[in-house]
Amino acid sequence: MTTEIAPAPSPVEAPAARPRIFSGIQPSGAPHLGNDLGAIRNYVRLQWEYEAIYCIVDYHALTSLHDAEVLRVRTREMAAALVALGLDPERCTLFVQSHRPEHTELCWLLCTVTPVSWLERTPTYKEKKVNQPDDVNHGLLTYPVLQAADIVIYKASLVPVGKDQAAHLELSREIVRRFNTLYGDTFPEPEAVHTEAPVVLGTDGVRKMSKSLGNTIDILADPDVIRGQVMSMVTDTKRIKRTDPGRPEVCNVCQLHRFFGDDHEDIWDGERTARTGCVDTKRLLAERIIRHYAEARERYRELLADPDRIDRILADGAERARPIAQATMAEVRHHMGLR
Ligand code: ATP
Ligand code: MG
Repeated sequence: MTTEIAPAPSPVEAPAARPRIFSGIQPSGAPHLGNDLGAIRNYVRLQWEYEAIYCIVDYHALTSLHDAEVLRVRTREMAAALVALGLDPERCTLFVQSHRPEHTELCWLLCTVTPVSWLERTPTYKEKKVNQPDDVNHGLLTYPVLQAADIVIYKASLVPVGKDQAAHLELSREIVRRFNTLYGDTFPEPEAVHTEAPVVLGTDGVRKMSKSLGNTIDILADPDVIRGQVMSMVTDTKRIKRTDPGRPEVCNVCQLHRFFGDDHEDIWDGERTARTGCVDTKRLLAERIIRHYAEARERYRELLADPDRIDRILADGAERARPIAQATMAEVRHHMGLR
């Protein structure tokens, strides 16, 4: 008796003219300044040059959030926010991770080539163990494998992300190398693409701005919320008295002025010479952020008032992602000997 081995299904390749990119964002809270300056700006810019696939990663959010209604609401809000900030659903593919179950299937397969020791040394896992000591769930450990699956299922070569994702991206590359060595060349090694603001510090001025750390400036929130968040920012901690000279290089507020106007050198000079105080510089920053996102805030409100439209955009996106994800899975199953 002979065993017939079916030929490998041909993978769906990205057209050479428009290489494929992928990125994910968690619906773990409202989008903040760090998300936009570090990642979303690049999502918007790159959708014109690349075949762009963007995913609201609700499975990832479940590693820290266990409230079904909150997750449902935040997932829709994140979709509305991304469109309001400039994603064009006709131009890019925008969908929800759990609507494409192939991601979790590939995650399992990649788990079988990923040593536990690689995951245990991931900095984000170590941080989460400290930040949520009562909920060190298995998902936190496996998170980077699911992230690798999210990216490579679309054979994306570039991943627009903030610097905080560097270790995860490196792990994705290691997993790809391991897989390709064991089962033959299947996936490209994904590379990160950063903006000019790869790490935006939070209002505490120390840790990176994060939805889960509560140190955010929520760009689409009501102006008064933004004012409150900006006014709470920690500035140069050595500037005690109003007459002390400031150090713009170490002041988070001064650094953020670089992205909201072309006069940051003047603002910095005012700080260095104590011509202006930290409160003035914060007030100005708050007003500029509010103005910069005014149109997006308006679009966000309109979209939220039309939940069916958001759901349609997400359903269309999941359908567009389907053939790519399924073709990769067929190829992977074949390579791994699954019948
Ligand atoms: P969480 O606290 O739940 O992890 P988050 O604020 O870190 O949320 P994510 O959804 O994890 O946001 O990240 C979405 C994208 O935004 C990623 O590409 C990430 O690198 C980027 N990003 C997040 N925070 C920052 C930041 N402070 N500076 C630059 N980029 C950031
Ligand atoms: Mg994060």
